[in-house]
Amino acid sequence: MDLLVVGGAGYIGSQMTKQLVRGGHSVVVLDNLSTGFRSLTKYGDLVIGDLNDIELLDTLFSKKKFDGVLHFAANSQVGESVRSPAKYYSNNVAGTLNLLDAMIKHNVANLVFSSTAATFGNPEYTPIDEAHPQVPINPYGRSKLMVEEILRDYCAAYGLRSVCLRYFNACGADPEGELGECHDPETHLIPLILQAASGRRDSIMVFGRDYPTEDGTCVRDYVHIEDLCSAHSLALKKLIDGEFDGFSAFNLGNGAGFSVDEVIRVASNVVAEDGKRIIVREGERRPGDPAVLVADATQARLQFGWKPAYADLETIIRHAWCWEKNLTSKK
Ligand code: UDP
Repeated sequence: MDLLVVGGAGYIGSQMTKQLVRGGHSVVVLDNLSTGFRSLTKYGDLVIGDLNDIELLDTLFSKKKFDGVLHFAANSQVGESVRSPAKYYSNNVAGTLNLLDAMIKHNVANLVFSSTAATFGNPEYTPIDEAHPQVPINPYGRSKLMVEEILRDYCAAYGLRSVCLRYFNACGADPEGELGECHDPETHLIPLILQAASGRRDSIMVFGRDYPTEDGTCVRDYVHIEDLCSAHSLALKKLIDGEFDGFSAFNLGNGAGFSVDEVIRVASNVVAEDGKRIIVREGERRPGDPAVLVADATQARLQFGWKPAYADLETIIRHAWCWEKNLTSKK
């Protein structure tokens, strides 16, 4: 198939592109390289450009008849979205509208969209299933929910078929060690812990120990990026085969939560094999962090047969540690 991966130079989009190319598909990557990296685009044909460039989109869709689009391009930092909502609504919402308009104009009907657990806001219950109310508590989550709602309307009015995949905590790295995470600034727990182990930072700070969880630290559902990508592949196939012919949305997680302390413990054991240790400091709660965020991914299993291959936390951390060692050895 001919596929367009928007945001294919990023952490998850680059892994997706590799998986698709390995699967025999022809992939064009569109990325403005604002948070992506050329070094992560070893697979697919890179077109550098922005979703706010309507002319570029028109040219891209005129040149090739894509069978489907996978859309990963978005700003995704909660704190930044509170400080700069204009950036989030412009890039995540207005940019996506331009993409959708180009798809409709050029009769491309299949879209897999990267959504997020942040569309749910503070959970009323866990694990969170698709029926859980969506009440996001920050502009990032709202920008993603707005796109979900737009997709629902575009499906009804223009026949655009879409699947929204709501990631819980995306983590890990390419099992082959070729691709991984390079966020700047890095805000996520696992890469920060591993940077503390490799010496790129001096320590990891635990944000709060007074949550209503077993050990008092927050619990999250960590999902390997390779598993997130396989969910995209499966959902895309259903779209293209016409088995999903409207709007649908699925939660992607392993259904098992790990506390911050558990993640630090597992990571400490992994890095100890290389003689490294992790210094842990205690900090205040980070504003906006719910105590527990765990997905109920039953629907993804039932509707498109998704079964994570790397659900084990130690495996996830081993892959991420391998990537961190690659990065630091190149410095
Ligand atoms: N966290 C932490 N220290 C850090 C970064 C994160 O204790 O330096 C905690 C954070 O409060 C949350 C969990 O780790 O409970 C996962 O945070 P992350 O930013 O990785 O993902 P989020 O759940 O916010 O999407």
